[in-house]
Amino acid sequence: VERDFVRWLRQRLPRIGDDAAVLDWPADRLIVTSDMLMDGTDFELDRCDPQRAGRKALAVNLSDLAAMAARPMAAVVSVALPRSQRLDFAQQFYRGIFRLAEEFQVEVVGGDTNSWSGPLVVSIALLGEASGPGPLCRSGGRPGDDLLVTGQLGGSLLGHHLDFTPRVREALTLHAAYPLHAAIDISDGLSLDLSRLAEESGCGASLDLDQIPISPDAHRLAEQVPGLSALDRALGDGEDFELLLAVPPEVTRRMLDDRLVNIPLTRIGQLIAAPGLWARRSGQEPVPLEPRGYEH
Ligand SMILES: [Mg+2]
Repeated sequence: VERDFVRWLRQRLPRIGDDAAVLDWPADRLIVTSDMLMDGTDFELDRCDPQRAGRKALAVNLSDLAAMAARPMAAVVSVALPRSQRLDFAQQFYRGIFRLAEEFQVEVVGGDTNSWSGPLVVSIALLGEASGPGPLCRSGGRPGDDLLVTGQLGGSLLGHHLDFTPRVREALTLHAAYPLHAAIDISDGLSLDLSRLAEESGCGASLDLDQIPISPDAHRLAEQVPGLSALDRALGDGEDFELLLAVPPEVTRRMLDDRLVNIPLTRIGQLIAAPGLWARRSGQEPVPLEPRGYEH
């Protein structure tokens, strides 16, 4: 199976053949990210088809480059395949990667494929180049910045965590058009990722709870599973893979009015000088908010 599979891969990946890949690289700064996903943790292959799992493996990396406003260029894909699976399974898994790579104009330039007695494990390294005025970091936020979020949050477990669209185009468009200060992608939960951005920026953050865009799936899950409200889920579920941006307050209005991106953009709070995370309901005093989300 393995020899057939390598032959199949090489037909699809012209750069693979030498011991290492040689890339032409623009003079701009190189941005690199890597994520490892495991069957049973990040997807369940007995319940989702291998194409969706492969797609997710690349999509989470694309989301990290989006957070840096970097343009994705090349991917290195390493997979440990379960020996019990057939050639078709491996091909389907890689098809999920290749389709999304094509959509985002990423070339798969190398990697490794092994088989073993354990479950599927995939690690992708994604290489990109900085766009516009340079990489967008978590640390660039300042007290008074508005916090903007793309899309809707919460309930990703119902399917969004596999099928989300990484916000690469949106990040590149907004970074080129406005003087963004800082960004992070929401992978582990809004409140947790916001607390990370605020901490890296050396400030605190205040969320306007009434403004948070809650996804229909968060409402659905809140009905199905007692204990957590839809808002709780928007604050802490994770795997939304939306962008959280810190922007100077004088450009917020323009960003919301211009509608340069085709997805919702919502102002959900601001960075503040006082440390820690705070939550406010309209007309009420802010109260401390415990960051909650997926801890690795
Ligand atoms: Mg990230």
